[in-house]
Amino acid sequence: MTPSNPWFEAYIGLGSNLGDPIHTIASARLAIAGLADVEEIAFSPLYGSRPVGPQDQPDYVNAVMRIKTRLSAPNLLKQLQGIENAHGRVRSVRWGARTLDLDILLYDQQLINQPDLIVPHPELPNRAFVLHPLADVADSDLPIPGKGRLAELLTACPADGLKRIAQ
Ligand code: ATP
Ligand code: CA
Ligand code: CA
Repeated sequence: MTPSNPWFEAYIGLGSNLGDPIHTIASARLAIAGLADVEEIAFSPLYGSRPVGPQDQPDYVNAVMRIKTRLSAPNLLKQLQGIENAHGRVRSVRWGARTLDLDILLYDQQLINQPDLIVPHPELPNRAFVLHPLADVADSDLPIPGKGRLAELLTACPADGLKRIAQ
C-alpha cells in the first residue's frame, strides 16, 4: 500500500468580469470542490471591485475559497487552469477581462518560488479584493509567509471601492 499525501490547507482567489460572473464563480466553486483530493472548508461572500490594469473593462466579482487538499501546489495549479479553460478563459492582454481567474493565494505555510508558481501570491498584500474575502474565511492572525499577519495586511490596505454583493 502506498502512503497517501498529507492534507494541506490552501486558499484560492476567484475572479470574473465577463459573461455572468456570479454564475461563473458559483460554477467554479462546484468544480473546485468536485476535484479529486480537494475538499471545501469555507467560501467567502462575493465582492465587487474595479479592475486592476486596463480600466476599459467591466467590474470584477471576487471571492476566496478555503480548501484542504492532497494535491501538490503545482498539481493544484494545473487543475485550476483546467477549470479556467473549461469556463472559456482566453489568455490575451495582461490583466485583461476574463471569464474566470483562479489564483493560489496560500498553500499551507509554504513559500514557493518557481517560474510559473509563486506562493503566497505576490500581489496579495496590495489587493483589498483578496484580503477582505480572505479575512472572511481565515483567522485574522493567519500568518502570510514572508509578509506578516492577515490583520496587519488588512489594516495597511485601503478598501479601494470594494463592495460586498448582496445575495
Ligand atoms: P496576477 O498574478 O497579477 O493576479 P493574472 O492572474 O491576471 O495576474 P494570469 O494571466 O492569470 O495572471 O497568470 C499568469 C501566470 O501566473 C500563470 O500562467 C501562472 O503560471 C502564474 N502564477 C504564478 N504564481 C501563481 C499563483 N500563485 N496562482 C496562479 N497562477 C500563478
Ligand atoms: Ca489574478
Ligand atoms: Ca491568475
